[in-house]
Amino acid sequence: MAAACNLLDAGRQVTLIEKRPYLGGRAFSFTDRETGQEVDNGQHIFLGCCTYYIDFLKKLGTFRQAHLQSKMLVKVLSPGHIAGQLSTAPLPKPLHLLPSFLTYRHLGLKDKALALYALTRIALTNRSNPALSTETFGHWLKKHHQTQRSIDNFWNIIVKPCVNDDVSNVTAAMAMMVFQEGMMKTRHGSSIGYSKVGLSALMGQAAQEYIQRYGGQLITGRAVLALQADNSGIKGVELAGGETIRGDVYISALPFDDLAPLLPPELERAPYFASLRGLATAPIVNIHLWYNKQIMHEDFAAFVDSPLQWVFNKSSILGQNGAGGQYITISLSGAFEYINQPKEVLQQTFVEAMAQAFPKAKLAKVERILVVKQEKATFRCLPGSERLRPKAETPIENLFLAGEWTDTGWPSTMESAVRSGVAAAQAVVSRSNG
Ligand SMILES: Cc1cc2nc3c(=O)[nH]c(=O)nc-3n(C[C@H](O)[C@H](O)[C@H](O)COP(=O)(O)OP(=O)(O)OC[C@H]3O[C@@H](n4cnc5c(N)ncnc54)[C@H](O)[C@@H]3O)c2cc1C
Repeated sequence: MAAACNLLDAGRQVTLIEKRPYLGGRAFSFTDRETGQEVDNGQHIFLGCCTYYIDFLKKLGTFRQAHLQSKMLVKVLSPGHIAGQLSTAPLPKPLHLLPSFLTYRHLGLKDKALALYALTRIALTNRSNPALSTETFGHWLKKHHQTQRSIDNFWNIIVKPCVNDDVSNVTAAMAMMVFQEGMMKTRHGSSIGYSKVGLSALMGQAAQEYIQRYGGQLITGRAVLALQADNSGIKGVELAGGETIRGDVYISALPFDDLAPLLPPELERAPYFASLRGLATAPIVNIHLWYNKQIMHEDFAAFVDSPLQWVFNKSSILGQNGAGGQYITISLSGAFEYINQPKEVLQQTFVEAMAQAFPKAKLAKVERILVVKQEKATFRCLPGSERLRPKAETPIENLFLAGEWTDTGWPSTMESAVRSGVAAAQAVVSRSNG
């Protein structure tokens, strides 16, 4: 979507082909038949440092339908009702993090002293050092004397939702990127943002309108079955139903594992494209609960000592608080242990966890539960994955790549997706100008 919009801005003719009937990809919403509620496929948040994503929403005219905190403020709860808080203060960076960190109640004095030492080391580290792309952050943290308590109650609270994986799996380079870009570069980089409307209204529908308004062509509900190629490059894309669409230049914005099978066999086997299969994916599970009473007053909260990771008060976020009951979403990142569990088991585990975390939930009735599993939610930032992420240009002159998994330097996020689209559009324009 970002590539299409930017190419239209640059005066190019664009045809966007999407196999589903709507745009939005892995960030979309749908209407729950039972409640009539617009439900996101998964709670999506962004940070103040996601400047390309924020600019994209501004371009689409929907940024005012999102909320972005003026400063980071995250309540971190535990079922014992101890509330900690991570926030930024109006002090010069990096001191803006210090007051809340010193009063953070889920770490002891020793954990804090050691975590401050590690944060300082991160601030002073050049994360492009190749060794940090082959070492896990968990290993790096242990090497730098981090306690298990600070890994559970601080490092993973931030890394897991941002990179969709445990610190023991993600590279030190990518985890450091999160802290450097999000927390250390500017005072507002770690402010948390989220949509106040369903994700499709925020992005997919708005992008569709933008593309049509500026003369782009949309083909939705039809999959690309094959890229046709000869020695001089891509000749056309074959659609389900048999039609072939031709252009001068082609951008693939497919997930990495959807691209290779569409290529002619000789290209699919070529080392450049074959290496894309080396990337892996991680799941996210969202559990949507409708209570008959209000049980939570925060807009969202993170959790320690609980299977709950992050819980969102969707009624409040969507401005539907007056409705009596409350609509809650539990977002579980790096959800390897949950993705294959039967939905009934998940429902029981998480209704119980909510009752332990929120006293009012014990007295409330759960009127509806919806479990949404996204098996291939994000690509994984495992050691060695960085070198598998290609640039926008490919060895084929008229084929360019976009997609959040390409070489943006970011984890699998909407920011990365937009950056990749902008980069692909720029590469197309500069190649055709040159
Ligand atoms: C549950 C969940 C929660 C998430 N939470 C967050 C979050 O909090 N913050 C955040 O920033 N990111 C989050 N993400 C990640 C984010 O959604 C993705 O990184 C981003 O949407 C990827 O965008 P993309 O355009 O690169 O790929 P996609 O969104 O996957 O787009 C690829 C498109 O290609 C289409 N396609 C595939 N094959 C074909 C074909 N043969 N022909 C035509 N079209 C085809 C697909 O239908 C899709 O629309 C989350 C993802 C999930 C699933």
